Amino acid sequence: MPTLRLHDTLTREVRELAPLDGKTLRFYCCGPTVYGPAHIGNFRTFVLQDVFRRTAELSGMATLHVRNITDVDDKTIRDSQAQGLTLEEFTNYWSDRFHTDCARLNLLPPHHEPSAIDHIPQQIALIEQLIEKGHAYQSEDGSVYFNVPSFPGYGCLSHLDTRELRTGASGAVDSDEYDKDSVADFALWKARKTEDGANWWPSPWGEGRPGWHLECSAMCRQYLGDTFDLHSGGIDLIFPHHENEIAQSVASSGQPFAAHWFHIAHLMVDGGKMSKSLGNLHTLDDLETHGHSPMETRYALVSGHYRQPLNFTFQSLSDARKAMEKLSKAEQFLREQLGQPLAPSYEDLLGLEDRGIFEPAFLALSQDLNTPDALGKTFSALRGLKSGTAPGDIRRDWLGLHAVLSALGLILPEPEAASDVPAEVLALAEQRWQAKQAKNWAEADACRARVTELGWIIKDGKDGYEVSKS
Ligand code: AMP
Ligand code: ZN
Repeated sequence: MPTLRLHDTLTREVRELAPLDGKTLRFYCCGPTVYGPAHIGNFRTFVLQDVFRRTAELSGMATLHVRNITDVDDKTIRDSQAQGLTLEEFTNYWSDRFHTDCARLNLLPPHHEPSAIDHIPQQIALIEQLIEKGHAYQSEDGSVYFNVPSFPGYGCLSHLDTRELRTGASGAVDSDEYDKDSVADFALWKARKTEDGANWWPSPWGEGRPGWHLECSAMCRQYLGDTFDLHSGGIDLIFPHHENEIAQSVASSGQPFAAHWFHIAHLMVDGGKMSKSLGNLHTLDDLETHGHSPMETRYALVSGHYRQPLNFTFQSLSDARKAMEKLSKAEQFLREQLGQPLAPSYEDLLGLEDRGIFEPAFLALSQDLNTPDALGKTFSALRGLKSGTAPGDIRRDWLGLHAVLSALGLILPEPEAASDVPAEVLALAEQRWQAKQAKNWAEADACRARVTELGWIIKDGKDGYEVSKS
């Protein structure tokens, strides 16, 4: 069993990952802010987190996956009011929509999905602890701030120097927060303002609402304890959000926080981050109107390594479609050789001992979640498929292919075009392709001749072939 290795933002190294408690890998992913549809940039992050979880589970680890819903912040309040809805009505609508999109992308539901509003008492308790330990202070208007200079570890994740932080180089400082002692201090509790409308809660410091960073610290503690295995989000969250989470959690508990930090680089459009504010986003619905299924989107999102920015193009979705069709044909070929068995379940694959063609893909995933390499290795392995292979090997390869699909969370389209091509013809066509790659022209010609005799035609393309009726 290869060990799971993943880049850690904290140490800037690719490090081994094994459950701290020896049993269950406990991890937290910052979830969506539910004030509109999630775009496929957000989903790059959620899909890669899902591949991470699937890889850990396929390697034999139990997981405990927590992902929150941010349902109270400036944007959710502003937009719910603009639409004349209560915050709850508004955020429920967008949470439901998010869940629908997650299902379309075949994301495994987290084991817990807590929302910020449902955890106000836990957030208040955390602030009280921070005040008691001298890491937070109340300002005149009733807001409470974290005292950054009181926490010497501040900046460890983002590797920013404290001078930069003191001068507010992050740009993360709210212009209206005049009551702070230091420009880097951030709000734990925001005193009630007129524009908050009905969205306030009582607290020991007066009416108000929690600051954004606080919810994740409180929910990590509630569902995973003070110290847990891994914390994740898009790279834009490294600073200030995750830096602030570390400060809040470590300063209040005196214990280490997440042992490993997993950050996903951005999905880009024309050199800029895909984001709502830049207006360059695509949603799953939007891509579907262009004829691209959520699974094609998922494939395109896993086709790049998570530490590199990935440029979104419509071409990448067309390429995804072709690649998935190839996988689909290979799967059908194997299934027909086996006599049309039903697809194995996720649970069937968890206990797989002989991984067959999954082995090289799994090694790639175990080495810093190298999804493009896993795909490349799978296509190479599939090129070696031949008819007449021993049934035991066919079954192993078929399960292996399903394990790859399961690790990447891909659901293949039904191979309609190829469905009426007999298995013998498919096998000969594949044998011919292999022979051609090996420059074994005599064998390739013999295969083609037999395919023609059987009434089928092979047409070669740039990186593959197609079989059709003559
Ligand atoms: P939000 O709903 O804005 O809180 O974001 C939800 C998740 O999506 C966070 O982990 C963000 O870091 C991530 N995210 C936002 N934009 C992108 C993008 N263009 N590419 C990848 N991840 C993103
Ligand atoms: Zn968070």
